[in-house]
Parts: sequence; C-alpha cells; structure tokens
Amino acid sequence: TPSKHDTDIHQLDEATVARIAAGEVVERPASAVKELVENSLDADADSVDVTVEEGGTELIRVADDGEGMSEADLRAAVREHTTSKIEGLEDLESGVATLGFRGEALHTIGSVSRLTIRSRPRESEGAGTELVYEGGDVTSVEPTGCPEGTTVEIEELFYNTPARRKFLKTTATEFSHVNRVVTRYALANPDVAVTLTHDGREVFSTTGQGDLQAAVLAVYGREVASAMIPVDADGDDLPPGPLESVSGLVSHPETNRSSRDYLATYVNGRAVTADAVREGIMGAYGTQLGGDRYPFVSLFLEVPGDAVDVNVHPRKREVRFDDDDAVRRQVDAAVESALLEHGLLRSRAPRG
Ligand code: ADP
Ligand code: MG
Repeated sequence: TPSKHDTDIHQLDEATVARIAAGEVVERPASAVKELVENSLDADADSVDVTVEEGGTELIRVADDGEGMSEADLRAAVREHTTSKIEGLEDLESGVATLGFRGEALHTIGSVSRLTIRSRPRESEGAGTELVYEGGDVTSVEPTGCPEGTTVEIEELFYNTPARRKFLKTTATEFSHVNRVVTRYALANPDVAVTLTHDGREVFSTTGQGDLQAAVLAVYGREVASAMIPVDADGDDLPPGPLESVSGLVSHPETNRSSRDYLATYVNGRAVTADAVREGIMGAYGTQLGGDRYPFVSLFLEVPGDAVDVNVHPRKREVRFDDDDAVRRQVDAAVESALLEHGLLRSRAPRG
C-alpha cells in the first residue's frame, strides 16, 4: 500500500528530455537549415550547398568545404552540450565571435530525425568518417571516402514526434521559410559560394566572390539587383548613437514587395531583426512607399560588442539595443542620405 512518502513525481528519461528540448531549437525545417548553415560558416567554409526535398520535411542536406571533423570530433559533436566554440562563461561575457556556441543543435536535431554526418578534416590523410545518429542514438560509425569538409543530412525531421510533424505546413510554405533563411546567410556572406536546391531544381547560387551586389543579383534576380543603391555611412555621417557604421544596399522605392521578408538586416554579421532598425529604414522611405510595402534591403550595422546582447534565444532573431531611439535615428539618416543622393526622395520637412 502506498505510504504518504510515495510520489508521482519522477525524472524523465534522457530521450524524452531531448525530444522536448528539440522543440525549443527546431520548430520546422528552416530552423534546422539555419543551424547547419551556421555550423558550416563557423567552420570557415568557402562553399555551402543546401539541398532540400519537399520543403525540407523529407530531406535537408548541407555540404561544406570547411574545417571538417575527425572521428572523435564526430562522436563528440552529437553529444549533449558539446561545442568547440566556447570554453565557459568568460567567453560568453566577452562576446562570441561564432554564430553557434550552445552545443545543442546536432544533438537535438538528431533526437528528432535520422541524422547522417560525413566529414573529413581539412588537409587530412586517408578516409573520412560517416556517423549515423537516429532518434537520439549513435547507430553506426564507419570510415568512408569523402571530400574535405562536412556533409550533414537530416531525413524525416520529427518522424518520432508525430504531433510536431503534423504541424508542419505545406511544402511551399516550409520551403519559403528555408529560402528566406538561406538567402539571409548568402547575402551576409558574399565571400561564400552558397547554393540552394529544392526538389532537384537550383533556386539560386552565389559566386562567393565577395561582392554584395553580385549576391543580390544571384538571389533576387536582375530587376531587383538593378534597383539597388549603396548605403555607406560611418563616423560623422551618422547622428550620435551606438552604431559605428551602416552599410549595404537598399532598393529604389518603386522596387518593393508587400512582405517584410526582403528586409535583411545584420548586426555585427548576425542576421537579426530589430524594431528600431526596421522603423529607421521605413522612416527614411517615408511616404514614398505605399502602406504595407517594403523595400529590398541588405543592411549591415556595426556596434561595439557590449551595446548588443548576442545571447538571444536560438529561435528568435529579435535583438534590442540599449538606446533604440538613437539606433532608429542613425539608420534613418544613413538610408535617407543614400536615397537623397540618388534623387529618390521627394524633399521632406526637416526634422527638429
Ligand atoms: P555549436 O554550433 O553551438 O557548437 P552544434 O551542435 O551545432 O553546436 O555543433 C557541435 C560541434 O560540432 C561544433 O562546436 C563543431 O565543433 C562541430 N561541427 C558541427 N558542424 C560542423 C561543420 N559543418 N564543420 C565542422 N565542424 C562542425
Ligand atoms: Mg551550431
């Protein structure tokens, strides 16, 4: 008979904990794509090839020519909270240079999919290693012939969490999220050749030659690329505030869309969104854009590391600044002067 000390409260097993946690990191194929592309960029890749099938719900494959991993690295990489990128708290405090640092992506993605990683370290002799991780367990590790770098394949995301799999949207919707993620990273890294292929069709391919204008041409096409004008403001060009520089490309007011998806903004190289930045951009265009219309923008902001917190939630790209008002004014001024210089603004009452 149960005594009064009995309890129904018990510790969950590791596999269950990992599956629940996976929902925090990966909510849909696009979030898995983001994690893999960030890993490739952190591995110093010159090329990143992203291939997805059925919007990423059946297959996601990211192949890079980065640093690669040894067999021991591979075994460690899929364990919980394992990273090569930071040592401890001090590194977090002083600011993290890599895109990843939590050490949870591969482990959690592998707990809700069938994950295959093939890798060979740069300039290594001999074969590489293939590791298969299924539903949270390493099921095979074998030598395999493969090029230098890393290829990660995720098959059937959420196969063992049917409730989550059921919430995935249509192929078209899931792919549009994947496309937006890969586009953001392609525009942020014009020196990396990024290719996106969906269901056997190449969607875009950047050259990796380092030219933002060329990357915009590759991802958005000729009409948009020809409507882009440069923004390049720093020092005295900017009103007082935390931003050290604002640079990139923004479109003619007439070249616009009804979605915010084309506002690609980066803080210290990280793809993020921030209300202050968006409002600054929209303020510069003023009434030149109709209601609910947005320009094409690829804008890079530099701030001192301590003026912005990178330790944001893995899924959220929203950041806040200490002084949002100043950031808004700085972005507005930088974009406005670019538009004015190109005669693209009707004169606007001076603000005071
Ligand atoms: P994090 O990126 O936060 O460190 P991940 O789970 O994404 O955590 O990756 C774990 C580790 O596996 C990384 O720290 C890195 O050492 C290694 N790794 C993952 N992907 C790659 C890759 N494409 N190339 C080289 N190493 C990788
Ligand atoms: Mg990572």
